[in-house]
Parts: sequence; C-alpha cells; structure tokens
Amino acid sequence: MKDLDRYVTIIGKPEIDEIKSLGKYLKGRRVHHINSTKSGGGVAEILQRLVPLMESLGIKATWDAIEGNAEFFDVTKMIHNAMHGQEVDFSPEQMEILEQTNRQNEKLLDEPADITIIHDPQPLPLVTFRREKKRPIWLWRCHIDLSEADYRVWGALRHYVEQFDGSLFHLPEYSKGLGIPQYILPPAIDPLSEKNMELTLEEVQTTVDNFGIDPEKPYIIQVSRFDRLKDPVGVIEAFRMVQEWHDVQLVLAGGSASDDPEGVKVLQEVREAADNDPDIHILDLPPTSHIEINALQRGARIIIQKSLREGFGLVVTEAMWKGKPVIGGAVGGIKTQVIHNVTGFLASTIEGTAYRIRQLLANPGLSDRLGHAAKEYIRSNFLLPSYLKNWLLLLLQQEHMGERITFLD
Ligand code: UDP
Repeated sequence: MKDLDRYVTIIGKPEIDEIKSLGKYLKGRRVHHINSTKSGGGVAEILQRLVPLMESLGIKATWDAIEGNAEFFDVTKMIHNAMHGQEVDFSPEQMEILEQTNRQNEKLLDEPADITIIHDPQPLPLVTFRREKKRPIWLWRCHIDLSEADYRVWGALRHYVEQFDGSLFHLPEYSKGLGIPQYILPPAIDPLSEKNMELTLEEVQTTVDNFGIDPEKPYIIQVSRFDRLKDPVGVIEAFRMVQEWHDVQLVLAGGSASDDPEGVKVLQEVREAADNDPDIHILDLPPTSHIEINALQRGARIIIQKSLREGFGLVVTEAMWKGKPVIGGAVGGIKTQVIHNVTGFLASTIEGTAYRIRQLLANPGLSDRLGHAAKEYIRSNFLLPSYLKNWLLLLLQQEHMGERITFLD
C-alpha cells in the first residue's frame, strides 16, 4: 500500500484525497530539508516520516544534515540553550565557528532546489548562499520556543533569519518580531509509529506485567525525561494525597542519559521522594523503548503531564491520541492541546492535580468523555497527514508569492 494510503483508516479517504490533490500542484518540485542530525531528537523523528510522505506525492523531497566537528556542536548547543532563555556569553570566535562550518557545508546546496527548508539555528548561515546557488525560496522552520531567547545570541542570528522568505513556529507565543512573514505550524505525531500504533490488550498486559506493575490495581502514569521542569516530585506529592482515598499505583517512566548529570540527580530526588513505596514504580528506560511507552500509556487509567514549563508537549499528544484522560500543567503547548474539561483537565498546583485525579478515578464516564474528545481533537489537528497538508498549503502559497515577486521584478 502507498505510504499515504496507510492513513486512510485513521483520518478518512476525503482528507487523504485532499492531500493528494494538493500534492499534484507540487509534483516534481524539489524541496530540500536541512537540519543538523539524521537521528535522535524530535526534528529528525518528524523528518524521517515527512520526507517519504512528500516523496509519495511526487515531490522531489530530500533531506541532508550539516556536518561539523565537536567544537561546532558545542557552539550550537550553547546557541540552543540561549534560544531557550539561558544567559550565555557568545563570542565573535564562536560566531566564526558557526559561520565557518556552514561555509564548509555549502556543497549541500549544489544540487538545484525550488524550496529550501532550514530547520533550527545550526544551519541558519547557509541562507547567505541563496543568490549564489540560485535557490529561489527559503523557509526557516524553528522548533524552539524563542519567546525568552537571550538577546545577544538572538541579536547575532537575527540578520540570517531575515534573509528567509518566511519563518515557521510551533505556537504564536514562540515567535519573535521579525521583518519577514511568520507562520504558525504546530508539530504532529505519527499514529503509525511504534510509539503510537494500536496494540493488542495482550501486548499491553505483557508489558505492564514485565515492569512489575500490579495488574489488579489501576495506575496513573507520567512519561517524561527526569527533569525538574516536568515536576516528577510534584506528581508524587499529588499521588500521596490521592492514596489516602484510592488504592492506586503511580508509574513514573522516563529516560536519563549518561551525559546528563542533571537527569541522574533528578532521578535520585524522585527515588527519595518515592521512599520505596511499592505502589510507586520508577522506570528508567532506554531511548528505544517506544513500544514499551506505548503499552504503558495504553494500560494507564489516567495520564499526567504536570510540567512547569513545556515546549509543545508531544507526550501529551501521544497520550490524548490513545484516548486517555490527561491532566496537564497549564503551560506551553499543553494549553493548545488540553481544552479544560473538554479534551482533558488543566491543573496548576499539586492540590489541583490530586483533585482532578480523584475526580477521574471516581467517575469512569467522565474519563471516557474526556478521552474520546481528546483522541478526536488530536485526529483533527496533530497527526502527521495534517502536518503534511499544512506544509503543502504553505509551499503552494510560497510558490505563488514567488511568482508575484518575479512578475514585479
Ligand atoms: N520520551 C521517550 N522516552 C522517555 C521520555 C520521553 O521516548 O523516557 C518521548 C516521549 O514519548 C515524547 C518525547 O520523548 O515523544 C518528549 O517530547 P515532549 O515534547 O513531550 O517533551 P521534551 O522531552 O521534548 O521536553
């Protein structure tokens, strides 16, 4: 079955037909994505699926990652942190490393392309080659919340961004005042990936058993990196309040990388807060545990994401897609997904979270209503084919604008 047709049973034939007809207008167009890594991280994950889907429509979609040495990636990591609001010292030497590595990657632009899409800040300076390489349309896809970006770093990079024809952000509040058009394009999940595909009851049960979770008692889960901004200790405190009234379990599932000393520290704090409670299961999972996370989410009675700050919160999208009632912190992209009392609950405090857990445990009908609405909301807004459709509309619009500009010239 053709790539896009696999989604017919999920979003319906009319929507797929619409995407295909939009795709016809872009057939043969050369669309070149450039980011900084082929694996690991959300950007690579989405490009791995988006590029083949574009190709299946006859678009000549290609994807390259820029190459750089350790020094370059130290600089880009610092830029990444600064974009997220961390104060950093950005020296002219570091700027030179960024520019030089981009110059060394100039050959990536040798093949002609109609539309060049640069992802995130690392390959930004490539835009300076746009005239030389005769590439007509350039877009910058930013996957980061720029609202609190360090002004020195942003100030140093901004002139690159303004050489693009347009910029794309996940949410309106993540954008910046810019002299080029800005578009809002939230991310999406792939319903057919291992993380989100349907599983049998048996598969779910086996995973739950393998992790030593008592199958006789319901459990609540939060899946997150062990990061203070995800407030895992706050989740335990809320759970303690619930435990006084209900015989339930809590699962805190997440990963901690060996190169992230903070993650190890937070995991330790979480273990201390859990105090060997047999009803609290702390799972330190490897990064490849997609099916396990899928099964754990599907087996849960309630899914929590008690973040204190959040980018988009794709884990909330994943939970809602599984038809689960979600209680999320009222921050970042969680607010875009969870409509309070319609597609889930928003809670800002430990007490509020505990209250909503109790309300859902006592009222399975309410859980079903929220879970059902959640799934449909994700189906309509945050699945990969809708993301592709939004891209197609944007690319078409850019082409028309390009024609107008040529005509005016
Ligand atoms: N995730 C994972 N293993 C973990 C923790 C998280 O695979 O141990 C996944 C989770 O399923 C989601 C992503 O990592 O796909 C987290 O994205 P999100 O936007 O929720 O948060 P971020 O970690 O980017 O702040």
